[in-house]
Amino acid sequence: MRCVKLLFLCATLAAAADNDAPRRLAARALGETPLWTDLRALCDGIGGRPTGSPAAQRSVEWAVKTFRAAGLTSVTVEPFKIPQLWLPGTAEASALSPVQFPIRLAAAPFTASTHGALEANLVDVGEGSEQDFARAGARARGAIVLVRSKEMKSFDDLFAEYLRNDALISSARKAGAAALLLQSTRPRGLLYRHPMGLDGALVPLPAAVVSREHAERLSRLAEAGDVRLRLNLQNQTGGEYESQNVVAEIRGREKPEEIVLIGAHLDSWDLGTGAEDNGVNVAMILDVARGFQELGIVPRRTIRFALFTGEEQGMWGSRRYVERHRAELDNFVATVTFDTGSGRLSGFYLNGREDLRAPVNAALAPLSGFTASDHLIDALDGTDNFDFLLSGVPNLVGVQDPIPYLPDYHAESDTFDRVNQREQKITTAIASALVWSLAESPQRLRRQSRQEVEKLLIDTKLDQQMKAFGQWSDFTAGQRGLFQ
Ligand SMILES: [Zn+2]
Repeated sequence: MRCVKLLFLCATLAAAADNDAPRRLAARALGETPLWTDLRALCDGIGGRPTGSPAAQRSVEWAVKTFRAAGLTSVTVEPFKIPQLWLPGTAEASALSPVQFPIRLAAAPFTASTHGALEANLVDVGEGSEQDFARAGARARGAIVLVRSKEMKSFDDLFAEYLRNDALISSARKAGAAALLLQSTRPRGLLYRHPMGLDGALVPLPAAVVSREHAERLSRLAEAGDVRLRLNLQNQTGGEYESQNVVAEIRGREKPEEIVLIGAHLDSWDLGTGAEDNGVNVAMILDVARGFQELGIVPRRTIRFALFTGEEQGMWGSRRYVERHRAELDNFVATVTFDTGSGRLSGFYLNGREDLRAPVNAALAPLSGFTASDHLIDALDGTDNFDFLLSGVPNLVGVQDPIPYLPDYHAESDTFDRVNQREQKITTAIASALVWSLAESPQRLRRQSRQEVEKLLIDTKLDQQMKAFGQWSDFTAGQRGLFQ
């Protein structure tokens, strides 16, 4: 009798909110899980995986297989188009005179190849301001132009490195330069992929990041006299091509049409193995899904686990996802994105939505001992939340310590050994509890109208960044930001 009663009670509990779910999910995430096995398979076993490469394709197949092995039955591959292909090929350079030595460099994504090997004089244009180019005058015509850089120490420095792209390209082209060498912002020979365009369009000038120390030596030599270089950059370029997002879901028990999406990008640059950017969060999302599955937790709403590709090419995967699911957007309760490695999670970017603060804090309240409540109201343009934000969907992005992510950003050193394993386990616990709560809560957040989004962009000054990145006109023309 007692047994029967208990069974009945259990059945009732299973059909209703499982209020202990956040603690159970967190406890499981903090214990022994396949998180590191997955990350090693992705980073060491597959490696760097630029969208459009065979490695990217392998990572898509691996993600499907891993979701299925975790027990998820609804796993789909959603194809989409990216306008232009760019993949790295040969990148070689050497000094020919007054002294011969090889130069370490890495082609800058979305820039042109040289026509065969180029031999030309080097012209040092300092930090490459308009006045610097004016000073170089006719010497820059047909030359390989060296642009100097300050050492990168913060996200602001990294941001400044991107913001100078357009001015540099237009000055160099106006001056008739044959190629651009950009001094690495990281010391000790470290190279990284520095995209020179942010919308995937090709820049009609060969460009590469050159080792910081080699750039210093070249600059000193150029001060004393003529320096002649040989440069050979052969990138693979092409027109429109197909890539895929991998999407899995746990269908909600009461409101399966309402969706909470947690996402990270599966693609990476190729010099390293894309551990901090962003394999560690791919592995985390797989483990969050595995946790729900293992514990048999089915929340009120559907949880979608999205692994996007084409992020490094201009956030194409999430942009196309939003386009494809346009008719469903009213049903998106919230999206949660992680894209800054494994640094300590201190809170979330609310992306201009003050109404997200209370639900996030309520979601994390059951996790005594772990806080992530230092939220920032700032709105982000630069990862996969962006097209959701532009379409009025409530969206969160993890705020994390810049270490270990930043020094290895897009670099040769972005490898498995960099990951902060302790913090990533905690982030997995927090993310699990957060998506459960967003998917379970009786209240849901509201989608904004186009007018509200426009006001948000102006209030958060994101409009200024969008103008600098050439995205504002797309938004005002209705090509980005989808509303019924
Ligand atoms: Zn990233």
